[in-house]
Amino acid sequence: MRFIDEAIISVSAGNGGPGAATFFRAPFIPKGGPDGGDGGRGGSIILKANSQVSTLSDLNNRRLIRAKNGSPGGGNRKSGRNAKDVVVDIPVGTVVYNAKTGDILADLVNPAQEVVVAKGGKGGHGNMKFVSARNRTPRKFEPGRPGEYIRIRMEMKSLADVGLVGRPNAGKSTLLSALTRANPRIADYPFSTLRPGLGVVPYGIYQRFVIADIPGLAEGAVEGKGLGHRFLRHIERTRLVVILIETLDPDYHNTLKKLVTDMSEFSDKLAGLPRIIVRSKADLDPPPDTDDENKTEVKFEHHISAVTGDGLPKLVDMIAEKLGLEKEGEY
Ligand code: GDP
Ligand code: MG
Repeated sequence: MRFIDEAIISVSAGNGGPGAATFFRAPFIPKGGPDGGDGGRGGSIILKANSQVSTLSDLNNRRLIRAKNGSPGGGNRKSGRNAKDVVVDIPVGTVVYNAKTGDILADLVNPAQEVVVAKGGKGGHGNMKFVSARNRTPRKFEPGRPGEYIRIRMEMKSLADVGLVGRPNAGKSTLLSALTRANPRIADYPFSTLRPGLGVVPYGIYQRFVIADIPGLAEGAVEGKGLGHRFLRHIERTRLVVILIETLDPDYHNTLKKLVTDMSEFSDKLAGLPRIIVRSKADLDPPPDTDDENKTEVKFEHHISAVTGDGLPKLVDMIAEKLGLEKEGEY
């Protein structure tokens, strides 16, 4: 199970337009001066972090992204038009590498943060710019500069907005697939098939969030570093933890205590996140409560059944609210 979301593409900025070599012409002015304008700038390729984009995988379909060339300069001192920059939206939390050297080019951690990965070429000067005392009628002009070309690898550091935490059997996988199945459009997401343990949940028409099962917790994998640390990376973007405790758990007070301890061992960041404590399998009857004196009070904020679907829409709303997503349109 690989949790790495990545894309490798080539990007090619536009070339600058050539400058013009023209001379002013008008009736009765036989020898007008040079009036060739400069070429326009080629379009750059800009990557922009967008919080509405949740995967890089769509970019893998586009091998090469290119911007247009700048327009050539014209006579009558006219500059060529600059080409438009091409802005590519990528998920927040994407690290951009030079695919050849492995150097990090950018780490886009904030929404709307941008990086120019390939700069458009400058336009060439027209002959107007080459006028000098010695040469009043230059025919010289410059070609435009070539736009930059680079092959980049992008890797999303952290996939999940929401971490799902619970003991084995708490119903994490069932909840993920229930949230996923409830939305047929999700079937298009490579996540849902290639990466069990991750679910993309749409919210309204435009928003979505990603929930990840955080495996290993309470399953002894925290000490057995390998898995734990690989996943540590992926909770960097996680802003919320949903703790699932099943209805059948006779000792849910201690379960919660243990989960919280495990979370802090796993990562301080995880332990410090806001939480929603949810009781799962609400379709089942709870066993009688224990009368342990030292038990900590547990306030379940919500009850769900991933099997009957009860409480799921409300859970999605609660999560979205904590993430600050606003619903636009009914999905
Ligand atoms: P995980 O280990 O936390 O991923 O738990 P699973 O999702 O694999 O669920 C463990 C067991 O509980 C499975 O047999 C599920 O069918 C069952 N289960 C999960 N959710 C519910 C639920 O809402 N109601 C009932 N009755 N059973 C559930
Ligand atoms: Mg599971």
